[in-house]
Amino acid sequence: MSLFDTHCHLDLMVEKDIDLDAALREAKQAGVDQILVPSVDESNWDRIANYAKEYSMVKWAIGIHPMFVTRQSLEQLNHMRLRLEASASCVAIGECGLDFYHGRDNQQLQTEVLIEQLKLAQQFELPVLLHVRKAHQELVKVLKQYPLSCGGIVHGFTGSYEQGMDYIKLGLCLGVGGSITYARANKTRNAFARFPLESLVFETDAPDMPLSGYQGEANQPKFVKDVLSSFILLRNESEQTISRIVAKTAKKMFNF
Ligand SMILES: [Zn+2]
Repeated sequence: MSLFDTHCHLDLMVEKDIDLDAALREAKQAGVDQILVPSVDESNWDRIANYAKEYSMVKWAIGIHPMFVTRQSLEQLNHMRLRLEASASCVAIGECGLDFYHGRDNQQLQTEVLIEQLKLAQQFELPVLLHVRKAHQELVKVLKQYPLSCGGIVHGFTGSYEQGMDYIKLGLCLGVGGSITYARANKTRNAFARFPLESLVFETDAPDMPLSGYQGEANQPKFVKDVLSSFILLRNESEQTISRIVAKTAKKMFNF
């Protein structure tokens, strides 16, 4: 089995006192052979790039998360461009996106910082890792204005079938995470039962988003195996077909 955790915050796991060597060893034992670590702003780019240097199973993405957008973000975007021009080792732009969960005070700035990152993704031919909360319509509108030829992932997707299809029609994939392990997540589970298989990838969002049965504990990349197990129960395809197609999608997107 070859599993890929397409969204895992190793730096936040370390902050929760999780031993990374052990966590990555256990992930490997659970069949995980690739882990993609997004960054949230310039303050953790170096640290995350170093994880990718240190562990061969780790890849990283350079980005400014919508919740970390500040007046300094515009300057950070210049630094991001310089790193990309110097051929940074990152395999994606992210995470970036829109988050209006706590209000829309900085909607304009968030949108501006997102658009600049979408332009960089297009220019440097990289996929994007998108974060969206309470901003589905606005994100779809921006994505229609700035098409992405290398696609990307709407991470931790928990919306409806119609919302998910809006992204899939734009050439994006949806990240299937721990939310589908909760019986009460009916809307999301029903949607994931129907989405085209080749537009889905797996993720944990560790150390957040603990799976059902593990509430209160830190999430870890090894649990992507349990996300897969829950997903299989929702689908008609065989386990082999699901593993094969989902692995193929992720490998194609990231060129490895
Ligand atoms: Zn994240």
